[in-house]
Amino acid sequence: NGGVIVRESIMRSLQDFRLIYRELLDEEEENSREEVLNVRPDLQAYRIFRERFSTDCDDKKYIGSVPGIYPGDIFHLRVELCVVGLHRPHRLGIDYTKRHDGTSVAISIVSNAQSSDSNYNLDVLVYSGSVAVTVNQKIEGTNLALKRSMDTNTPVRVIHGFTTVNEKKKFPTYIYGGLYHVEKYWRVKECEDRYVYMFRLRRMEGQKHIDIKEILQTGKYGSNTSVIIKDLSQGLERVPISVVNNISTECPMPYRYISRLQYPRNYRPTPPTGCGCVGGCSDSKKCACAIKNGGEIPFNDKGRIVEAKPLVYECGPSCKCPPTCHNRVGQHGLKFRLQVFKTKSMGWGVRTLDFIPSGSFVCEYIGEVLEDEEAQKRMTDEYLFAIGHNYYDESLWEGLSRSIPSLQKGPSKDDEAGFAVDASVMGNFAKFINHSCTPNLYAQNVLYDHEDISVPHIMFFASDDIRPHQELAYHYNYKIDQVHDANGNIKKKKCLCGSVECDGWLY
Ligand code: SAM
Repeated sequence: NGGVIVRESIMRSLQDFRLIYRELLDEEEENSREEVLNVRPDLQAYRIFRERFSTDCDDKKYIGSVPGIYPGDIFHLRVELCVVGLHRPHRLGIDYTKRHDGTSVAISIVSNAQSSDSNYNLDVLVYSGSVAVTVNQKIEGTNLALKRSMDTNTPVRVIHGFTTVNEKKKFPTYIYGGLYHVEKYWRVKECEDRYVYMFRLRRMEGQKHIDIKEILQTGKYGSNTSVIIKDLSQGLERVPISVVNNISTECPMPYRYISRLQYPRNYRPTPPTGCGCVGGCSDSKKCACAIKNGGEIPFNDKGRIVEAKPLVYECGPSCKCPPTCHNRVGQHGLKFRLQVFKTKSMGWGVRTLDFIPSGSFVCEYIGEVLEDEEAQKRMTDEYLFAIGHNYYDESLWEGLSRSIPSLQKGPSKDDEAGFAVDASVMGNFAKFINHSCTPNLYAQNVLYDHEDISVPHIMFFASDDIRPHQELAYHYNYKIDQVHDANGNIKKKKCLCGSVECDGWLY
């Protein structure tokens, strides 16, 4: 319906803005140039956004609700409020506009950033207006606009600012509280002849309840998302994995959450031979792990993979380098806030709440490692991921096998014993990642804690920049008409990824 379309369009604008902002931050980090640091990246991003999308956000003078924005919506920068039209000034706490009769009324207020006090009362806001310099001075300017809003019963949008602390850094968070009425105002003597006007605003009735504590904890995006599980991993991941369902009341089928691969009991992996780079792996000609990777570290200095390879060797427990070595990426685990959600037609899926730059490690496919024969006996093949070098994408081999010593014989033949990871009984959240014909993740084989090339870790890396709220997906690589049921009959399943380049069939 129309409301959903407006919301999608406004959220897309916000994502476009965040993308520009992120690019600027990345650029700044790369260059660290003095002159770049002089310009605030948020304001610069806002300027580029307006130029690129030919929008003048200053024109959006809404009185009352802003189409597509709901109470409880969360923003991370003051300029994001301008982008969506909630509050136009970048710095001033109050915005006002002229009514038809030429008088000004206040239309939005951003309250000063509070510390993240979860007992904060959202229903009442006491706002200190501008200072009146003398006793007899008339009420004017923004104070007058607020008084007029009171006299004319004009609703004022209130955005509450909070400061959250993450890894010792402070981050502002702005939560849209909804519409308020100015209830009363009074004057307070500050000192000598100086007076301050105080205004009390009360949240209008009939608006959706907002749980500030939950929003600040989960970073919940829209007001219509209902978190049914706060952390699916129960503390096993570095970042909580929330589960939301806006479609039905269903919860995911219970399974045992594990965050490390479970190998067969009799499985004895080959211990890794590590490198001897005591201070770090800076010399790729000498580092034994870099040599195993064909003479280079496969990650750049931001920890992003440079290109897809048949196999990547990270430094591991037998290496002399420190944990901060930039050849250790996937083994450090999850960095981005991800969320399991109920999709419209593909069951559960996984999306990101953070922006994920291309090449970033996202997560590992975790479950029980089974030999193929054992995997065939499982009740369901829904959560099986076939591994082993006989499954590597052949296109990755072109030219590369010669540079990676252990892979010189090329992709192995199908008759070699293979393995699969089964996440049906135990696994992590990656079991919920769906297939797409235009994926934003790809599966990379990685070794670091053993050297058995038939049982690599399956690590997903971003093959593209991924915006907040976008679903994560990889290509399942099934061959059409080659998936069989228990009786040997060909199984077929329609692909519902919705991509314009969709092949039509999953298998
Ligand atoms: N959606 C799954 C769930 O709810 O548990 C999570 C993914 S699971 C590894 C694989 C299954 O998800 C497939 O067998 C299929 O039922 C469904 N699925 C994933 N991607 C799909 C797609 N593009 N089209 C149709 N079904 C898909």
